[in-house]
Amino acid sequence: EADLAMHMAKGSGRNRIHFYDPAMQKLFIERVQIENELMDALTNGQIDVHYQLQVNDDGSIRGAEALARWQHPTKGFISPDTFIPIAEVTGKIQALGAWIFTRACSDFKNHIQAYADDDFVISINVSSIQIFESDFTEVILSQIKQIGINPAQVKLEITESAIIDRPELTHQKMLSLKKHGVQFSLDDFGTGYSSLTCLKNLPVDELKIDKTFVSDILLDIHSSAIAQTVIVLAKSLGLQVVAEGIEQSTQKIALQNLGCRIFQGYLFSKPLPLSEFLTLIKTIQRAQPAPY
Ligand code: C2E
Ligand code: MG
Ligand code: MG
Ligand code: MG
Repeated sequence: EADLAMHMAKGSGRNRIHFYDPAMQKLFIERVQIENELMDALTNGQIDVHYQLQVNDDGSIRGAEALARWQHPTKGFISPDTFIPIAEVTGKIQALGAWIFTRACSDFKNHIQAYADDDFVISINVSSIQIFESDFTEVILSQIKQIGINPAQVKLEITESAIIDRPELTHQKMLSLKKHGVQFSLDDFGTGYSSLTCLKNLPVDELKIDKTFVSDILLDIHSSAIAQTVIVLAKSLGLQVVAEGIEQSTQKIALQNLGCRIFQGYLFSKPLPLSEFLTLIKTIQRAQPAPY
C-alpha cells in the first residue's frame, strides 16, 4: 500500500489521483477490481480447488496438494500468485482460506478417500495472515471434526514468513494443532530467511524444496548444493522432504540420488480438477508396475 501511495500524487483537481506511471495505474486498477470481485467469485462458483499428485519413491501415491483456482468470466484464469496476495492485504484471506480448507477436506472425505490408502496426505496451503487470526486453531479443528476426517491426514503448508513475523505465536498454534495430529510442511524452503535455530525448535514435519532449486538442479551447482543441504538437514532433524516442481525425469533422478523420496511436479501430473484427479489415482492404483 505504501509503495502504491508513493507512486500516486493528488492532482490539482480535488478528489483526483494521478499516476506517474501508466503501468502502475493499470496495476492499481486491476488490484482494486480483483479485490472487489473476489468475494463474489467465491459465492458464484468461480473459485475452485485443484489437486496435484505427490508420489513416493516407489511410484505409489503419497497424497496431493490442494491449489486454489480462479476462472474469471471475462479475465480468464487468474493465478493464485496474483489473487492470494491481494486477498492477504485486503483482509479477504480469512474467508477465502477457510472456504478452501473446508472444500479440500470435504473433497478428500467425500471423493478422494475411497481411492486412497490410510496414509494419504492432503496438503493445504495456509497464509500467515490466517495463522495470526485469533481463532485459527479452533476453526481448523472444528472443520476437521465436522467433516469427519483423520487430522493426521491433513498437512498445512506454511511459509517461512509466518515464522519470521510472529515466531512465538506461530509456534504455539502449530503445537496446539499438532497435539491433535495435524501435520505441518514448510513450503518454498530455502527461499526465505528463517535461521537454522528457528527450524531446530519448530514443530514442523516436512520441508518442501522450492521449485527454483529443482528446475536448476542439473544446470547450476549452487541449486543442487542447496537441494542437497535441505535434504541432509531434513534427514538430520528427522523430517520428511518433498521436492516440488519436477518436470523432467533427470531432475527426479538427481534428487533421488541426493536422498529425496517424495516428489511433486508436472512430470507426474499437473494440478487437476477433482474429477480428473480421481481418474488419475484410480489409474495409478490399477497400473502394474507403478507408472513412475
Ligand atoms: P506453492 O504452494 O509453492 O505451490 C506450488 C506451485 O507450483 C503451484 O502453482 C503449482 O501449480 C506449481 N507447480 C507444480 N508443479 C510444477 C512444475 O512441475 N513446474 C512448474 N513450473 N510449476 C509447478 P500455483 O497453483 O500457481 O500456486 C502458486 C502459489 O499460490 C502456491 O505456491 C501458493 O503459495 C499459492 N497458493 C495456491 N493455492 C493457495 C491456497 O489455497 N491458499 C494459499 N494461502 N495460497 C495458495
Ligand atoms: Mg504449497
Ligand atoms: Mg512451494
Ligand atoms: Mg509458494
